[in-house]
Amino acid sequence: MHHPVAEPRPSIYFPYQVFKPWLPLGQDLDKRHPVVIAGAGPAGMVTALELARHGVPSVVLTSDLQFSQGSRAICFTRRSMEILQQVGVADRITAVGLPWRYGNSHYRGQRVFRMEAPHDPDDRFFPIINLQQQYLEQYLFEACLAQPLIDFRWGNKVESVRNHSDHAEVVVDTPQGPYTLRTDWLVAADGGRSGIRSHFNLQMEGASYEGFFVIADIRVDLPLPTERLAYFDPGWNPGNTVLMHREPHGIWRIDYQLPPGESPEEALRPEVLKSRIDAQLAMIGHPGIQWELDWSSVYSARTLTLSDFIHERVIFTGDAAHLLPIFGVRGANTAFQDAQSLGWHLAHVVRGLAGLSLLRHHSDERVGAAREIIAEAGKSVRFMTPPAGGFTWLRNAVLSLSLTQEFVRPLYHWRTSRPHEYTRSALNSRNDDNATFTRGPAHGAPPQNVKLAEGDHLLDHLGGGFDLLYFTRSQAVPDDLQHCVAQARSRGVALRITAIGASAPVAGADQTLPDDQQRCRLRYGIQSDGAAYLLRPDQHICARWHQVDAARLQDALSTALPR
Ligand SMILES: Cc1cc2nc3c(=O)[nH]c(=O)nc-3n(C[C@H](O)[C@H](O)[C@H](O)COP(=O)(O)OP(=O)(O)OC[C@H]3O[C@@H](n4cnc5c(N)ncnc54)[C@H](O)[C@@H]3O)c2cc1C
Repeated sequence: MHHPVAEPRPSIYFPYQVFKPWLPLGQDLDKRHPVVIAGAGPAGMVTALELARHGVPSVVLTSDLQFSQGSRAICFTRRSMEILQQVGVADRITAVGLPWRYGNSHYRGQRVFRMEAPHDPDDRFFPIINLQQQYLEQYLFEACLAQPLIDFRWGNKVESVRNHSDHAEVVVDTPQGPYTLRTDWLVAADGGRSGIRSHFNLQMEGASYEGFFVIADIRVDLPLPTERLAYFDPGWNPGNTVLMHREPHGIWRIDYQLPPGESPEEALRPEVLKSRIDAQLAMIGHPGIQWELDWSSVYSARTLTLSDFIHERVIFTGDAAHLLPIFGVRGANTAFQDAQSLGWHLAHVVRGLAGLSLLRHHSDERVGAAREIIAEAGKSVRFMTPPAGGFTWLRNAVLSLSLTQEFVRPLYHWRTSRPHEYTRSALNSRNDDNATFTRGPAHGAPPQNVKLAEGDHLLDHLGGGFDLLYFTRSQAVPDDLQHCVAQARSRGVALRITAIGASAPVAGADQTLPDDQQRCRLRYGIQSDGAAYLLRPDQHICARWHQVDAARLQDALSTALPR
């Protein structure tokens, strides 16, 4: 019998609510489900919301009765916000989150590098916004509750899974005892310690790094702007690194590396925590300032991924599929991209709009993304916490040279999570004009946002299926193109035409967006009327033409939705 913790978790700023468990008594348990999702973290909930947007119902199981403990992921990138906008929670995050774009690296009391993340007037969202993960989970849960296609079950723990040729059998334990669910697909979004991954004894590729970091969230009143602060080799913690981030609700995160050989238990002893946090606050000019601890935890950096996210009828996603170091804000930000990708690929397979091979493409694309992130994150990890030998030597050289030499300072640059570009995806059109465009997002890239008017951006108008951005100043979409779109829709493919650039509504388009200042044309490298971009349901570009016609569009759709 599963007995989840029923006491609200402690927090000085987040009022944890304990939800009632879902109990199997009197329920129809024989039903076979198209999708069951194990885990209600960012990956599980965004997958459920994406599936629902594509018309696919799911059951979401979570072993807990409340949102996760502590702030965990606190920095959400612009691309994450664009994904979260699609599932309807971005405005709630913007309302309370703390946006920022500067980072500062300090060494020996001197600021040696100031990073400025690009922020274009066409962007709706800041490069990064800070908010504690519990709030994000709350907003996602409330969006799930409002969605009739999502059956959310608190206090339901996946105990075991059996794969069959065309479905999976999932044994779920509850406070009232176990029951069995049958599902065409099980999404394993059960986090970094995935019991489902262990159950199948799946091995991950990659590396685990030495060295532990403490995360401590404290309430303290510091008169500092919302910027990322990094301190290398501080006097109170020689040879190590300390990071600081401001969070909403008067909270600051202090994140510091432990001296070699110190155990996590020793590091989390209250007196040890206190002396180190006091020392850090004193070092930045606030000796003796009052503060209160909310949450502390210890982590080490790992760069690990499954080499295939699909194990017969079980699909791994988020932390269950890969473990990424939190430097560069990669955990939850990568989970959103996984979930957005999985949502549309799986929905199209479940609805019979594409063959099983579409799921293989999902796995290939996201394993590729994980490997790219691992390569990139590995560099950050080796700089933040150098393993030994040459890496330590290099870091020490950069640190000391940076006091006087401008040219080494960019080496501090913090490689932040950025969206993976599916440049070589098999879903990209092979017969379009991608290669001859000189500007604009290319094959596999996420779209470029464009400000249309105050508070109105291009991406606000897109999503929910394939989008054809059709650049025209004429009065109507050509008949053959309209016919091709109508045919795709009659097969169940969600495809909308957005005409861009005409001064009056364009006949045959689902919507017409003005482009008075030609910003869309410029951003998308458009040279002639009749040019077009095709965006997949995750908004990544899969085709672009200087001149589109029905045959070319049909060809691109067939490539993106292989049978
Ligand atoms: C202590 C800690 C600190 C972190 N700090 C940061 C940070 O500073 N920055 C950052 O970017 N990321 C951080 N992360 C990582 C970030 O929280 C994760 O990357 C993110 O939550 C991934 O989302 P997920 O949905 O894949 O997994 P999770 O959020 O872990 O969600 C897993 C879900 O699965 C459920 N579950 C587990 N087992 C079962 C089961 N058997 N049956 C049913 N449900 C189950 C859990 O209840 C939970 O709902 C931190 C993580 C931890 C643990």
